[in-house]
Amino acid sequence: MSGRLDTKTALITGGNSGIGRAIAERFVAEGANVTITGRDQATIDEVASSLGDRGQGIRSDVSDMASHADVVDKAVAKFGKLDVFVANAGIAEMIPFLETTEADYDRVMDINLKGLFFGVQAAVRHMNDGGSIVLTGSVVSVKGFPAFSAYSATKGAVRTLARVLASELAERKIRVNVSSPGPIATHIFGRQGIERDFIEDNFTQMVPLKRLGEPDELANLALFLASDEASYITGADFHADGGVAQV
Ligand code: NAD
Repeated sequence: MSGRLDTKTALITGGNSGIGRAIAERFVAEGANVTITGRDQATIDEVASSLGDRGQGIRSDVSDMASHADVVDKAVAKFGKLDVFVANAGIAEMIPFLETTEADYDRVMDINLKGLFFGVQAAVRHMNDGGSIVLTGSVVSVKGFPAFSAYSATKGAVRTLARVLASELAERKIRVNVSSPGPIATHIFGRQGIERDFIEDNFTQMVPLKRLGEPDELANLALFLASDEASYITGADFHADGGVAQV
């Protein structure tokens, strides 16, 4: 069986849940060797075992800057090289601007931006020339929804960072692109105590396609960007958002 990622090795942060998990499963189905990271050991073990011999799970917190080199070393030690890095781990917190504390701000910045920045740096040090980096952004980089100030600032910065990295890494033929989800049916808001009904009621009506997206729909996009089919695409931001940011 030939897959679209045969011979590739990938590292996916936040690969034990939601969008990252769907990406990990799709990548393995398309022939890649995949290392996932996350914070919860039980779901890391569950996903890693479902990926079989071509999967590996590592418990790691992206806000621990000292952890990034170790994670990349383990991914390369297991599968011999690194071709694809998906910087996907993230949190979303709805907090009105005036109620946002310094601790709230630091938490989301440390995970969504600083953790992503130094994760990519560690990955690039071991990545093969010709590799692909996919950063999980969000529609909030181009839309201003209330109560998402710090979160949106991280995703706007991720989009900007992709332009610079695409430029700087072009000499090594490493492509850097952003995959920007709209509202997707994952646990991300539930972790903050926000019920699925609230998301359906408040977000679905603003989506032209009138439904939440599914993690698999982001896996389709990540697969394309990671594969050689996207060989002439770098520095770009693709929205899989039911039209939220486009219409
Ligand atoms: P999710 O909560 O199901 O998954 C988040 C993942 O990030 C988990 O695997 C978790 O372990 C990991 N993670 C969070 N903090 C971490 C940390 N400190 N260290 C290591 N891993 C950490 O949510 P999801 O919706 O799949 O989110 C994935 C990405 O998609 C995030 O970057 C999020 O901002 C982005 N996104 C999601 C939506 C949506 O509606 N679900 C919309 C736009 C963007």
